[in-house]
Amino acid sequence: MENLKIVVAGHIDHGKSTLIGRLLYETDSLSQRITDEIEKLKQSGAKQEFAFITDQLKEEQANGITIDTTQVELKTSTRNYTLIDTPGHKEFLKNMITGATTAAAAIVVIDISEGLMEQTYQHIYLIAMLGIKQVIVVINKMDQKLYNRIRFWELSEQIKDYLNKLDMQITAVIPASAQYGDNITIQSRRMDWNSSPTLIKSLDLLSCQDGSAQSPLRFVVQCPFITKSKTVILGKMVSGRLFKNQHITFGPEHHTTKILSIEASGREKTSAQAPESIAVTLEDLTEIDRGQVGFNVCHPPITTDFLKAEVFSISIEALKPADKITILCGTQQSSAVIEEVTQIIDPASLEVVATGAEKIADSQVATVKIKLDSPICIDPFDNIAELGRFAIVRNGKIAGGGIIK
Ligand code: GDP
Repeated sequence: MENLKIVVAGHIDHGKSTLIGRLLYETDSLSQRITDEIEKLKQSGAKQEFAFITDQLKEEQANGITIDTTQVELKTSTRNYTLIDTPGHKEFLKNMITGATTAAAAIVVIDISEGLMEQTYQHIYLIAMLGIKQVIVVINKMDQKLYNRIRFWELSEQIKDYLNKLDMQITAVIPASAQYGDNITIQSRRMDWNSSPTLIKSLDLLSCQDGSAQSPLRFVVQCPFITKSKTVILGKMVSGRLFKNQHITFGPEHHTTKILSIEASGREKTSAQAPESIAVTLEDLTEIDRGQVGFNVCHPPITTDFLKAEVFSISIEALKPADKITILCGTQQSSAVIEEVTQIIDPASLEVVATGAEKIADSQVATVKIKLDSPICIDPFDNIAELGRFAIVRNGKIAGGGIIK
């Protein structure tokens, strides 16, 4: 069965955890232990029972490993879903920017009383910037506004207008109450004016296409090793297909060799395609380094030491042109400097608020020119996302991320 990854976004306290908890509860996706605890909480009259579920899941998942996302699995009759909830606004931005969270679609949760807040705009902007085009909007806490259709309609027009400007596909805008279970899996009788499907039905309306295998070959080198007789490379197919006996060129140096064998999950194969992780054996004993990119010489990436990009800052200390930064793109890395901050864009109004700025403040979006110390292989983000996005590291910390225009 297909699996679709969905990131859950929204301003703090607008009800993301409660929504996920409710969804899991109503689809019988929870362990008996958690279900029993909820029944107890319900009987005691406690109001927080559904946010409690995601807290419990965090505890179960955190057992032994450090995580900063909660990933929960959900099944419908058509598909499996992984819902990714990132506790904390900064963590959300960081996960999205570093590629730790990749998703095919987003659920954006908005509190009907508070409406569109700064974090809501920033999350949506980043989602759009990173190429997640499909969105389901849940206007939550409708119970607090007595399920009023006028307020829903106003907010729904406002969010649709913003999403349209970002060229996003709106799968549904759903008036809901995660707390009381309205329009999550059951069509609410308290909002008979509503024509949107429930959240669970909207999930099944999302499209599941992953076109990465149809793009030109990009094989990112993660771990190369040379034995006495052969060169073996572990890496990830980020786009395209690769065949046994095919010639492959590794950049940025442009060394061409032949693929003698391909293995995935311990099995030999005659071909591989994105997004598989594979091990390949090369014909000659070539020094290939981590960070290099394999491609077909007829459709090469751009090899360059200069980037024109749109970046999103997540650093409390502003990013400035003189700063020493490192750019991470795929597994490539290069030290760099921002040469010029061309424009600053406000994520809420989408307007250019400054040109030729001296710095990029926390949570600001900017178009920049970046000069790298050594060349890397890149692609425009719209062609091959994984080689068109990068993270910016300063003093060992993620300070922002960007996409290549
Ligand atoms: P998050 O920070 O976005 O994950 O928000 P939470 O799920 O933790 O919810 C924040 C608060 O809003 C909690 O006190 C919830 O009980 C409450 N809440 C969430 N959904 C609803 C809802 O549909 N109606 C009402 N009245 N309260 C809700």
